[in-house]
Amino acid sequence: MTLEKTFILIKPDGVKRGLIGSIIQRYERAGLRLCAVKLVSCTREQAEEHYAEHRGKSFFSSLVALLTSGPSLAIAAEGAHAIAVVRKLNGDTEPQSAAPGTIRGDFAHMGYTRSAELKGTINNMVHASDSAESALRELSLWFDDSDYTDPYETVLKEFI
Ligand code: UDP
Ligand code: MG
Repeated sequence: MTLEKTFILIKPDGVKRGLIGSIIQRYERAGLRLCAVKLVSCTREQAEEHYAEHRGKSFFSSLVALLTSGPSLAIAAEGAHAIAVVRKLNGDTEPQSAAPGTIRGDFAHMGYTRSAELKGTINNMVHASDSAESALRELSLWFDDSDYTDPYETVLKEFI
């Protein structure tokens, strides 16, 4: 099955910088359908659950602190190969080495050295599911069935 739903989070650094519109535009422009969108101030428990795979790593507590520092925009997006396509649009984890044209490459610049100096997380504004299993787990962590809209007709239907 190549038609997939993936989970995207515009993290509080992206929201605080006023980049919601600029970032969402990238996903829509690529032809992805937004199925659910919600501004969420997440709890510590939800942040820790979301990033459970990173529990115990040096950056875990600053990552959880970032996620609970203000609202995030949660998005469910659908399209052919949506999981890989959104990871491509987001770019590499480290903005310093993320390619120009990607969200992390165009709207941020921090590298691991600087984030270590600041003893913080690397501010890269967006999260996206990295596999079908992660997408299912994360979508159910952030959304209820009632959050989803019915599929709409799209002029870009041939691309999804
Ligand atoms: N992160 C960090 N330092 C690191 C690795 C990751 O601060 O050395 C943060 C960063 O915000 C990243 C998140 O932890 O987006 C999750 O890391 P992951 O390796 O899953 O990267 P992603 O899937 O977001 O590209
Ligand atoms: Mg990840």
